[in-house]
Amino acid sequence: MNVLVVGGAGYIGSHCVRQAVAAGHRVVVLDDLSQGHPAAVPAGVPFVRFDMADEPNVRLVLREQAIEVVMHFAGLTNVGESVRQPERYHEHNVGRTKKLLDAMLAEEVRRMVFSSTCATYGVPEQMPMTENLPQHPINPYGQTKLDVERTLGHLAISEGFSFAAFRYFNAAGAAADGSIGEDHFPETHLIPLAIAAALGRRPPLQVFGDDYPTPDGTCLRDYVHVDDLAAAHLAVLPRLAAPGARLYYNLGTGVPRSVKEVLASVERVTGRAVPHVVVPRREGDPPELFASADKARAELGWAPRYVELDAIVETAYRWHLARPQGFAS
Ligand code: UDP
Repeated sequence: MNVLVVGGAGYIGSHCVRQAVAAGHRVVVLDDLSQGHPAAVPAGVPFVRFDMADEPNVRLVLREQAIEVVMHFAGLTNVGESVRQPERYHEHNVGRTKKLLDAMLAEEVRRMVFSSTCATYGVPEQMPMTENLPQHPINPYGQTKLDVERTLGHLAISEGFSFAAFRYFNAAGAAADGSIGEDHFPETHLIPLAIAAALGRRPPLQVFGDDYPTPDGTCLRDYVHVDDLAAAHLAVLPRLAAPGARLYYNLGTGVPRSVKEVLASVERVTGRAVPHVVVPRREGDPPELFASADKARAELGWAPRYVELDAIVETAYRWHLARPQGFAS
């Protein structure tokens, strides 16, 4: 298919671009580089740099490249920041997505794969989490993703728009060949920070709370490899052929891991201690979040290839060794 990857120079988007190209799709990357990295886009893949809300230019690309489906990864993703800047998050993640959707409708492109999040559920009543749980986000980031899911749902009814919303759990790891990986500024995620602390490149890691009602007192999360996330985006494409398809899938391994387990894994993989200090809980962190990915498994034949935490951390470590300063290296 002719695929426009919006946010294709970012972390998850860039892994998806590689897989889509390898699978034989014709890929065009659109990214404003506010967070993405041009070096993350493979040579030979057409790359346009502008805002997804730039309707005339987006329409031009959709038309000239005969785009059939848009994969939409662009957005602000930092929970803590969203609590401090809710309006900015709404404007970026909801407002600009609506412009992108306007451009798509104007050009009669009616298929989208959308990056949503387990943060749309808030503090769920049940573990593992299934797609039919109530969605009550507890931070603006989760709310913005839920708002887009709802908008897509309305467009499916009014316009015959087809979409899949993937609710990611904790994206982690890097390409197996170490060529691309996670490079956020500022970095806030546990695994890259723990690796950097182990290598002495950052101050000791702050563990956000060890008094949660979990076996070791630290939060439980579901770390899922970025290449496994990317694979689901390709697996879902045939299902978007039906007009009005509304598809929602959790993507996680289904295995909860505590912060302390992650630190132990980083220590095994790097062979170094992870210096750390326990500090108070972080605002907006539920005690545990882990997926039931049974629906993706049953309907898409999707299964994570990386299940062992050490295997995920190993790919992240390889990337950090190859690129100590990320893409700037
Ligand atoms: N975490 C931590 N210290 C850090 C960063 C994260 O203790 O410096 C914890 C955080 O409280 C959460 C888990 O690690 O329980 C994963 O957090 P991350 O920010 O990587 O992803 P999120 O779950 O927010 O999407």
